[in-house]
Amino acid sequence: MIGYASKIFFQTLAGSQSLKRLASRYGMRSHGGFARRFIAGETVEEAIVAARAIEASGLMHTLDLLGESVHTMAEADMATRAYLATMDRIVAAGIGRGLSLKLTQLGLGIDRATCTDNLRRILDRAGADDFFVRVDMENSPYTQVTLDVFETMWQLGYRNVGIVLQSCLRRTPADAQRMIELGASVRLVKGAYQEPKRVAYQRKSEVDAAFVELTQLLLASGHYHAIASHDPGMIDATRQFASRRGIGTDRFELQMLYGIRRDLQAQLRDAGYRLRVYVPFGREWFPYFMRRLGERPANVGFVIRSILSERRG
Ligand SMILES: Cc1cc2nc3c(=O)[nH]c(=O)nc-3n(C[C@H](O)[C@H](O)[C@H](O)COP(=O)(O)OP(=O)(O)OC[C@H]3O[C@@H](n4cnc5c(N)ncnc54)[C@H](O)[C@@H]3O)c2cc1C
Repeated sequence: MIGYASKIFFQTLAGSQSLKRLASRYGMRSHGGFARRFIAGETVEEAIVAARAIEASGLMHTLDLLGESVHTMAEADMATRAYLATMDRIVAAGIGRGLSLKLTQLGLGIDRATCTDNLRRILDRAGADDFFVRVDMENSPYTQVTLDVFETMWQLGYRNVGIVLQSCLRRTPADAQRMIELGASVRLVKGAYQEPKRVAYQRKSEVDAAFVELTQLLLASGHYHAIASHDPGMIDATRQFASRRGIGTDRFELQMLYGIRRDLQAQLRDAGYRLRVYVPFGREWFPYFMRRLGERPANVGFVIRSILSERRG
C-alpha cells in the first residue's frame, strides 16, 4: 500500500516544472549533487568514466542516454542522433558495447512509423559495431506498441536487440511465451510505473510471485535472458532455480541499477554471477530520478542529507 501511494506521489511530482528546475540546479553539481548517486553524469564522457570503473570491478554495463516522451519529431531525431554519437564515443573509448533506450524517446508517442525508422537507424549502426540494444519497457499504454515495434525489428532480421517485460502486468506470461517462441532475449523487471488494477497486480506479494514464475519460465527456455532486480528474495529464487536445473552462470545474467545495492552487486560477482549495471546519463535525468525515489522513499532522506551537508560545507 505504501509502495502504491509512494509511486503515485513521486509520479505526480515528476510532472512539476518548478521542482524540476530546483532539482536541476542542485542535483548534478560536481561535488555533492544528490542525483549523482543514481545518475552517472550529464555527458557521455562522464558515463564512460563510470562504465570504465564498472568494468574494472569485474561487472558489465549498459548505457542509457536518459530521455523519454519527446513532443516533436525534431526532438526524436535529435535523440536518435545522440544515440548514434554515443556509439561513436563508446567505440572510441574501447569499452563494452551495450545500450538501453526508450521508444517514446525516439517518437513512439507521436508517430510510430518514424519511431520505427529511428530505431532501425540505431540498430543498423549498432549491428555494424557489435552493440547490443535493449528496448526498455515504459508504462502500460505503450506495452503493446513497444512489443509490436520490437517484433517488427525481429521479423526484419535484427538480432542485436532485446526487450524488457514487467512482472507486475497480468499479460506478461503470454508476452514471455511469445518472446521465447521468437528466441528473443528478455530483461525481466518488476515494473517501475504505477499501473491500474485492471492491467497490473497491486500487491508486492503478487508482483514477486509473478517475477519468480516468469524467471523460471525464461531460464528454462534455454535462451539467454537478464533477471533485473535488487530484491534478495528474487535473486535467491533465481539462483536456486538455476542450480536445481543445472543452468550454468554463463547462461543468464543478473542486472541492477547504477548506485543501488552496490554491496549485493559485489557479492554476486564474487559468487561467480554475470552482473550488468544499468548506467543512466544525460541532462533529462529528472523523471528517472523521481522513479527511483518512488521505489524507496528512504532515498528522500538521502537527498535531504546531501543537500543539508552541501549547505553546511
Ligand atoms: C537493470 C534494470 C533495468 C530496468 N529497466 C526497467 C524498464 O525497462 N522498465 C521498467 O518498468 N522498470 C525497469 N526497471 C525498474 C524495475 O521495474 C523496478 O522498479 C526496480 O528494479 C525496483 O524493483 P526491485 O526488483 O529492485 O524490487 P523492490 O521490491 O522494489 O526492491 C527490493 C530492494 O531493492 C532495493 N531497492 C530497490 N529500488 C531501490 C531504489 N530506488 N533505491 C535504493 N534501493 C532500492 C531495496 O533494498 C529494496 O528493499 C529496471 C531495473 C533494473 C535493475
